[in-house]
Amino acid sequence: MKYISTRGQAPELTFEEAMLTGLARDGGLYVPAEIPTFSADEIAALSGLSYEEVAFRVMRPFVGDSFSDEEFRAIIARAYEGFGHVARAPLKQLDTNHFLLELFHGPTLAFKDFAMQLIGQLFEVALKRRGETVTIVGATSGDTGSAAMEAFAGLEAVNVFIMYPHGRVSEVQRRQMTTPTANNVHALAVDGDFDDCQARLKDMFNDFEFRDGVKLAGVNSINFARVLAQVVYYFTAAASLGAPLRKVSFTVPTGNFGDIFAGFIAKQMGLPIDQLVVATNQNDILHRCLSGNGYHKGDTIPSISPSMDIQVSSNFERALFYAYDQDGAAVAQLMDELKNGGFEVSQGAMEFLSATFASGRASEEETLATIKSEYADSGELLCPHGAVGVKVANEHRKSDVPMITLATAHPAKFPAAVEKASDVHPPLPSRMSDLYERSERLTRISNDLGALEDHIRKTIAQ
Ligand SMILES: *Cc1c(COP(=O)(O)O)cnc(C)c1O
Repeated sequence: MKYISTRGQAPELTFEEAMLTGLARDGGLYVPAEIPTFSADEIAALSGLSYEEVAFRVMRPFVGDSFSDEEFRAIIARAYEGFGHVARAPLKQLDTNHFLLELFHGPTLAFKDFAMQLIGQLFEVALKRRGETVTIVGATSGDTGSAAMEAFAGLEAVNVFIMYPHGRVSEVQRRQMTTPTANNVHALAVDGDFDDCQARLKDMFNDFEFRDGVKLAGVNSINFARVLAQVVYYFTAAASLGAPLRKVSFTVPTGNFGDIFAGFIAKQMGLPIDQLVVATNQNDILHRCLSGNGYHKGDTIPSISPSMDIQVSSNFERALFYAYDQDGAAVAQLMDELKNGGFEVSQGAMEFLSATFASGRASEEETLATIKSEYADSGELLCPHGAVGVKVANEHRKSDVPMITLATAHPAKFPAAVEKASDVHPPLPSRMSDLYERSERLTRISNDLGALEDHIRKTIAQ
């Protein structure tokens, strides 16, 4: 299996190379040259299997020769053993034909753990075999950072630096990044917003001297291995609700378009998905674009669902690549226009996007009201991201197709908003109940490429 760049100008890589590289050298994102497909029989055979076995079968064709079957099974087993639920991604019923896919039973209580725990194990095996070390730098709107630090803490071949927007993540999110004690993981509080952090990360990747000097690797959702890990739970959820005999729909609270893009891959692989619904908060650039209004950056407005406070949705580039018939030059041109504020989507590409994705948005008031009403109706306490999803799912679901809404974080990760809406204080699971007592460690730093690169160089030289 070969991987190609969405901008068409970078070398083709194997799965392992693409995983270790992150961003392609032409600024694009790696995607598989061909998406493998599953027959109806192969999908039917998934029902009743463990999460780990489904993960092996779904991801195997993408991995190619990079890992042996035995290595890959062991990697998957280690990745998910620390989860707090044996089903890993259990489904809960909210209403007739409406289900919640709980993706928050991992070590940092958000769906990012599914990908990050897997990537940690994949990196460890690959780097040990190569006798190499790498520096992982990540930008986080809150949840990716802690998930990466948990996944890589204590590994010898990896140093991890996580940039997060200072003052713009929840206290639980911050503490999950500032309290790990392993000395190879570092939290950087950047004076800026998430888009600034993401832009500095791209700048580092485009600074080839720095990139090669520190052996920079990325684990943001631009890394295809992360998208791949997320494809698995679309299969487990659909299989347990009757796929391939019955179609299902998904609603996905979206920011960087990684999780919903995993659903797109699942659909391309043959999973019978009826609707793929993009749910945004008040930062609704994706909803506006999918409604035919072009992609035009505005200011990021901080919300109660901060992990979705995004204007430059990096994985959307992958969707555009397919919408533009895999024309790398066309994608490169759009991304150039985006630097100056935005772009219009061509008519043909828009037809593809509208046929593939539906979309909706939830305001702050609607999000709070949904937390309250869902708690009253089903007893389920939603985090604000999941609530955005449920609000939009309710606008799209049909009586004859099960709707599965992705619950991307545990309510205890966002206690202030949840309590405001429901009058219930969501407790942390017992395994992390001492989070507020642990001491914090972070470096506050300006939104400046030189300062960031200096700090990283100095720290790894120690
Ligand atoms: C990251 C995140 C999202 C957005 O996911 P994308 O893959 O970036 O679209 C939604 N909810 C939570 C809780 C997250 O951490």
